[in-house]
Amino acid sequence: PHGAGLFQGLRPIDRKGEGRMKETGCVYLVGAGCGSADLITVRGLRLLQSCGAVVYDALIDPALLEEAPLAERYPAGKRSGSHSMPQEEISALLVRLAREGKTVVRLKGGDPFVFGRGGEEILALQEAGIPFEEVPGITSAIAVPAYGGIPVTHREFTSSLHIITGHARAGKPLEIDFEALVRTRGTLVFLMGVTSLPDICAGLLEAGMNADMPAAIVEQGTTPRQRRFNATVGTLAQTATEQAVTSPAISIVGPVCALAEKFDWFDALPLKGKKIVVTRPRERSGTLAGRLSKLGADVYEYPCIRTEPIIPCPEMEAALNRLGDYTHLVLTSPAGVEALWGMLEREGKDARALSGVTLAAIGPGTDRELRKHGLRADYIPAVYDAAHLGAGLAGMVSGRVLILRAELGSPALTEALERGKIPYDDIHCYTTAYESEHAAALRALIREDKVDIVTFTSASTVRGFAHSVGEDLDFSRVLGACIGEQTAAEARRYGIRTRVAAQATMDALIDIIIKEGNETWN
Ligand code: SAH
Repeated sequence: PHGAGLFQGLRPIDRKGEGRMKETGCVYLVGAGCGSADLITVRGLRLLQSCGAVVYDALIDPALLEEAPLAERYPAGKRSGSHSMPQEEISALLVRLAREGKTVVRLKGGDPFVFGRGGEEILALQEAGIPFEEVPGITSAIAVPAYGGIPVTHREFTSSLHIITGHARAGKPLEIDFEALVRTRGTLVFLMGVTSLPDICAGLLEAGMNADMPAAIVEQGTTPRQRRFNATVGTLAQTATEQAVTSPAISIVGPVCALAEKFDWFDALPLKGKKIVVTRPRERSGTLAGRLSKLGADVYEYPCIRTEPIIPCPEMEAALNRLGDYTHLVLTSPAGVEALWGMLEREGKDARALSGVTLAAIGPGTDRELRKHGLRADYIPAVYDAAHLGAGLAGMVSGRVLILRAELGSPALTEALERGKIPYDDIHCYTTAYESEHAAALRALIREDKVDIVTFTSASTVRGFAHSVGEDLDFSRVLGACIGEQTAAEARRYGIRTRVAAQATMDALIDIIIKEGNETWN
């Protein structure tokens, strides 16, 4: 829609854009790095976080797209066999988005110029007069061998590195000069070559390569699902068939492959390949999921419950206005602290509003949340659960106790206070609701027996989990790693086998997952 008026025919006028011409956006060809989402460059990540549109390939980790929550998303996935968008269409899409004035990130696996057809897209952009930049990425040709314990070069082993496509055009023989490759005595890295692996190995042997030359194939490199198989050039093709290796995979040929067993750090991670479901509420799952991933686990984050402060909450408001009636204020979760703090903020108050009352927290997580607000728990029980908190309080309180917690809080706390004849007010300041967004996916995982361990940090996460995957499912193969005896008891009610962390901390939970996960549970 070109504007009318004086300049009609001279230059387009965008009326909505206050008469200014809409500037053409820039297209950034960004290498996403290979496999694991955190192998993108800092520059690539920053562009992704600020772009208006992202056009991405099939092998991109979905976690990366979450870095661009506001950007328009266009899958342009190309996988051999199912070309979902022809190259010309991708180029046309990039041109159109840029002309709409958007900053476009064209996210490509590994490095855009290593068998990524980045050059073709740049030619199209150049022809259309669209500004562009290229951001290199960590290529699978180097990263995948590295995660398999194979350095692509190593002094005394090799003096060159060759990256070759093993992709054959339909019905045609490979266009590879095997004799030249064998003569280099370098490390040979074959991309896109799972189906043509027999031809590649035969070609190398015919060209005079020793059949004992070390070789390896690495599938789904850098991800928790990575598998590496060692072989020789004489046995590699057969090994790949026997192990049912599928794309994406990389084959490496050369003496450096002999270092794989010795240098393999990735397969040696304590939780490598373990499939673990983390059920914490989304706001709190981050650290646990992140730590398990770093230990090599394949982590699925399925928040089963969601906590929400009750607003307005007249009961809490009234209780805080007569805080002098209480000697102790008890908090049983970080969510409770958040709800309390939210109310103080809304009323224009701060931490001083709580002066004079003794603060009790169920454990260090709740205490940590208090500390964020300049507060500190005066009392934390030795065992971090409701029963011990209640018993501890019963032994030391002389006045009235104010409990701020969820509506379905554990009765163990109030029962202990009642046994000690301690008066209390149990006020509900937040709700826990089941989160069912991912229920179908989670159900499928459990059904297909693709889950090794599920973490449960509270009885309500157990109920949320059972509720969202369906209580009709057979849970006997699920292993529950639990914080707290009450949590474990709830899990056992659903037939889940359990292990309980020695303390109610993330460290202790991770400890039992590592120890028990490797020994007793298998
Ligand atoms: N531009 C990409 C390569 C694109 S070609 C890069 O620089 O990495 C696609 C091929 O890369 C796949 O067929 C496979 O051989 C290889 N590849 C990509 N990701 C991989 C991964 N995570 N594990 C193993 N091979 C991978």
